[in-house]
Amino acid sequence: MDKKYDVVIVGSGVAGLFCALSLPRDKKILCISKDALDGCDSFLAQGGICMLRDEEDYDSYFEDTMRAGHYENREESVEIMIRSSQEVIQDLVDYGVEFDKKDGEYLFTREGAHSNNRILFHEDVTGREITSKLLARAQERDNITLMAHTTMVDWVCQDNVCYGIVVADMDGKTTAVQADVTVLACGGLGGVYQHSTNFKHISGDALALAMYHNVRLENCDYVQIHPTTLYTKEGGRSFLISESVRGEGAVLRDKNGERFTDELQPRDIVSKAIHDKMEEQHTEHVWLDFSPIPEEEILNHFPNIYARCKQAGYDPLKDWVPVVPAQHYFMGGIYVDKDSKTTMEQLYAVGETSCNGVHGRNRLASNSLLESLVFAKRAAADIVNTKSFKQPKDFDSLINMDGYEDLPSIMEYYHAMVVGEIEKEANKRAEEEVL
Ligand SMILES: Cc1cc2nc3c(=O)[nH]c(=O)nc-3n(C[C@H](O)[C@H](O)[C@H](O)COP(=O)(O)OP(=O)(O)OC[C@H]3O[C@@H](n4cnc5c(N)ncnc54)[C@H](O)[C@@H]3O)c2cc1C
Repeated sequence: MDKKYDVVIVGSGVAGLFCALSLPRDKKILCISKDALDGCDSFLAQGGICMLRDEEDYDSYFEDTMRAGHYENREESVEIMIRSSQEVIQDLVDYGVEFDKKDGEYLFTREGAHSNNRILFHEDVTGREITSKLLARAQERDNITLMAHTTMVDWVCQDNVCYGIVVADMDGKTTAVQADVTVLACGGLGGVYQHSTNFKHISGDALALAMYHNVRLENCDYVQIHPTTLYTKEGGRSFLISESVRGEGAVLRDKNGERFTDELQPRDIVSKAIHDKMEEQHTEHVWLDFSPIPEEEILNHFPNIYARCKQAGYDPLKDWVPVVPAQHYFMGGIYVDKDSKTTMEQLYAVGETSCNGVHGRNRLASNSLLESLVFAKRAAADIVNTKSFKQPKDFDSLINMDGYEDLPSIMEYYHAMVVGEIEKEANKRAEEEVL
């Protein structure tokens, strides 16, 4: 790792990698990950990625996104995302990403709250397909240095300008890295929850630093609970059963085998219906019945989900599968404008860490990979269009490296800040809604 880069990107998920690949080859880029390079939620995405089918689909795609978001979405961002979708999908295909096809034509699936089939997929491992191809392309670039197990622990900033970050390696050794631009692509905050589909290490570190350095956040209490994760008595990361399983026909049943809700409503509404049913019937889960889906579709479209359920002792071809809601996604984040700029100069945020307002109060299924890619590319374009960057008089004097000796306590403090902020925002909103 060198001491100075043009751009430092924190995170090697779709947002970080796509931003790196969208920057010109003469930019010297460092991209770091707190865990392994493939240890990110992007690799876990199952269902797929939305794409505007054609001009006729525009109004209903826009309306579906707004309705799922309870009309709290920033309309400009929604429009940008939908209008950019075909271009970004073409970029992915150019990078070698493959989506499922039949007779040479793309197949489109559907998930909850979508009024049209507009989701491209690669079996039930779309995230792995996209992210592994982006990672392979980034590894081929001479101008991009990728570093695993390297954790951002602070920003180097002064007078609301970001000049780089402080990183720690696996042994806790800290180094300050200077950059003209810093891009936060650190994912969501599922790691602070006991039950989440997210990796444990993805725990909102950038949000804590934003609070610490007075950078604007937005809607920190807008946390999405996914209705259907596999119920087990074991701990660890919750295994998601993609919404496209319900999109293809699976139904929810209570302990008496009765259907109790429309499975294709927005996620927050289905999650609430499940919670209410569990409370009413004093159960720890409800059931997901795959039987309306043709056997061939289960085996071909959902091989990973099928195998995992079988491993847990349930054969989706014969048995109902126990499911329970769990934390899944973060709609809020570091406030950014339509070019992914935060309120601090020379600091961008992209992907789940950021809040550009696309999702409003609740994300429409399969919009997040797309949103991450579209706004990561916009960040790259804005960086390229910036004529000059402010430079610190003396970079080293901006930071006291002795302050990072007790890293575990610092990271714990960051987690507590994130949890506190979610609670504070939720309480504030509840009070406002009562008034
Ligand atoms: C199980 C699951 C299924 C999903 N299915 C879909 C789907 O079908 N369609 C869809 O659109 N979306 C889906 N999503 C959501 C989507 O995958 C994520 O929103 C998206 O991938 C986020 O990408 P990202 O690049 O912002 O973050 P991530 O992919 O989470 O990457 C975050 C990166 O930041 C790094 N990082 C974090 N903190 C630090 C730090 N302090 N220092 C250094 N590095 C750090 C991590 O190591 C990681 O590299 C799913 C999510 C999950 C969990």
